[in-house]
Amino acid sequence: MARNENSDQQALSDPKLLDKIDKLFACNVGEYISLPQLVVVGDQSSGKSSVLEGLTQLPFPRDSGLCTRFATQIIFRRSKEHSTRTITASVLAGSDASPEKAAGLKDWTWSKVGAFDPSEFSMVMNEVHVLMGVSIESHSAKPTFSNDVFRLEICGPDEDHLSVIDVPGIFKNTVPGVTSKTDIHLVHNMVVAYMKNPRSIMLMVVPANVDIATQEIVELAREYDPDGQRTLGVLTKPDLVDMGAEHRVLDLIRGEDLTFKHGWFLVRNLGQRELQEGVDRNAAEKAFRQTEPWDSVPQDRFGIQSLRVRLQDAVIYNARQSFSQVRSEILKRLKSRQQALKDLGDECITSQQQRSFLLGVVSRFQQITSYGLNSLYAMDDVFVDNPDLRIATLVMNCHIAFAENLSSWAHEYRFIMNNMNQDEGTSAFGTSFMNLQDLKSMNKSDTPPPVINTRTTEDIEELTEILHESTLEKYPNESGIHQWLTEVFHLSRGFEMGTFNPSILAEAFRKQSAKWPNFALGYISDVIILIHRFILKALKLSCGSQHVCDRLKARLMNDLLSKYRDAIKHVCFLLHIERSGMPLTLNHYFNDTLQRMRTARIQAQLAPKAISDQRRGEMVRLSDVSTAHNKSNTKQTVEDIHDILQSYYKAALKRFADNICMQAAGFYLVHGPETPTRLFDPLFVHNLSEEDLEEIAGEEPRVRRLRAQLVKEIGDLEAGKMILQETR
Ligand code: GDP
Ligand code: MG
Repeated sequence: MARNENSDQQALSDPKLLDKIDKLFACNVGEYISLPQLVVVGDQSSGKSSVLEGLTQLPFPRDSGLCTRFATQIIFRRSKEHSTRTITASVLAGSDASPEKAAGLKDWTWSKVGAFDPSEFSMVMNEVHVLMGVSIESHSAKPTFSNDVFRLEICGPDEDHLSVIDVPGIFKNTVPGVTSKTDIHLVHNMVVAYMKNPRSIMLMVVPANVDIATQEIVELAREYDPDGQRTLGVLTKPDLVDMGAEHRVLDLIRGEDLTFKHGWFLVRNLGQRELQEGVDRNAAEKAFRQTEPWDSVPQDRFGIQSLRVRLQDAVIYNARQSFSQVRSEILKRLKSRQQALKDLGDECITSQQQRSFLLGVVSRFQQITSYGLNSLYAMDDVFVDNPDLRIATLVMNCHIAFAENLSSWAHEYRFIMNNMNQDEGTSAFGTSFMNLQDLKSMNKSDTPPPVINTRTTEDIEELTEILHESTLEKYPNESGIHQWLTEVFHLSRGFEMGTFNPSILAEAFRKQSAKWPNFALGYISDVIILIHRFILKALKLSCGSQHVCDRLKARLMNDLLSKYRDAIKHVCFLLHIERSGMPLTLNHYFNDTLQRMRTARIQAQLAPKAISDQRRGEMVRLSDVSTAHNKSNTKQTVEDIHDILQSYYKAALKRFADNICMQAAGFYLVHGPETPTRLFDPLFVHNLSEEDLEEIAGEEPRVRRLRAQLVKEIGDLEAGKMILQETR
């Protein structure tokens, strides 16, 4: 305010401190941290602007039908650099303003040197209304109120430090075409936001000619300042108090109301008519002071000067009290925001940044893959917490389980053993998984026959369409192979004599291996799931961001599916070769087994006829050989079929298990040159267009917004930190 002739008027000052606080407001620090400030609150038309005008001697627009539509911050600053008063106006965008609007507001300033005349002021105000996008006329489509703040800085050699915010008056009734119910809330919230700030001092303006109990603002002040430490009550319009009702006002001023520690002040402003007549404000107040009963009001409670003195004390006290907290809050918040920005990682804006980021991801992915496939789990910490990454072990376990299931469960009928060397036989012929005795006892009791699932992994939804569903398979038929083979022979024999049609072997083999498809397809589905889980986990760990990982996955998914399909197709191909083609093996193992089976069969038949000789060991008479070998043609042929089928099945099973593991799983999924894990390589990144890169590695809108917000806040807080460090 202009330092007037009143020499007793004290300067509202601790210039350095207050100046710093104003500067902090100017660089938006007030948005993040509660800064000490003075705000004028009250209901509409309670006389806020009149009080402000009295305090500041600026011509505030009063009751011109244009109520205050936004908060106005007025800052007086003494500055030796200015030889005359300089007024600068600007607008701080509200936190709800769009970036475009904020930029527009930031660019706007207005300034003038010298006195401030009312017509000029209303012109500027009109401009500001347009800028903020609030309506001037009624029935406009534009909003009536704005959260932006109009800032008026008044610098001069003789100004006193004072910074005050004039907010729109709260109201309860709407004016058709001007204010709506939404506006009531909007203004209410705006005012409350200022009142809530624990470091604000409230100049609460209430007309003396109404019952203060009906004033909403008093209720709000009690709510947000329950201790009453931050509220100064100002009673206006004492000249309009009804005759006889004066004592209520006087009681209030004399301190009957204990809620507000700073108490109440009485201020006499000018009425509308007096304003038009050009009455001097201070003279009118002085004259009013002489009248009864107002002459009894204590001097320090009457008039704008007393209010100013008291305000000065309160403002300075408040600023000193909270300044060190403000400082530490700014530093603390700056640190936490900087950390938050760091946590967001490096910015990926240009294609080059995005490409090199993705190349980094590729190289990490390939490193994890290489360690995983070579079971070098000790090389990297990622293997400690992520069992899915131990891919070599997982796949190997799957291979072994497959081979065991195949040999114990995958044949329809158990072959007949003729005391063959058990070590020699694979479990397809013995009972590697389940002891036959156990099985028999199980079947005798009421327990259901044992079954096995052909899959061990849980399905992943995105793969369900290509994977083989798990099936339940029964344990092989224990007896009955002889009868079955006899039927096969009877149904398929031709004109052969003493031998059999080779297609019988193919037919019997097909039946005997009927469960192979379910086991093999179940197994390959398991391996696909293991590989898929591995890829997803390794991708996630390499990307560091779920967003990038999801985008990459979406990008790779079709190719991954096609790789998985290739593996499945190869299983079908191997199944077709084994089960639908002509039986063939060059493996000598087939002959060896067959010979041993035949020998064992003869030995078994002759054993009962054996004579023990001390010197020569076990012997059989030649005549016994012929009788022992005397059996029907059919029986003989069926026995032959059995032995050949058994020998062939054994060889084919080993071949099949190896081929499936080595080719379908090994080549197509794990180690081959074109496995799914190799899809994500530098070439893939190299081939991405700029749009692709943006889509995959570009920052997601949420992060981009957050980053922009953090950068702005850090900039503001850093500017604030500089202000704190200034020595003058
Ligand atoms: P605001 O809406 O709270 O800013 O209130 P204003 O300052 O615009 O005042 C509203 C109306 O009340 C104006 O016409 C003022 O002239 C009038 N007014 C304010 N204070 C007094 C006062 O102490 N006495 C009289 N008679 N009128 C006043
Ligand atoms: Mg006003």
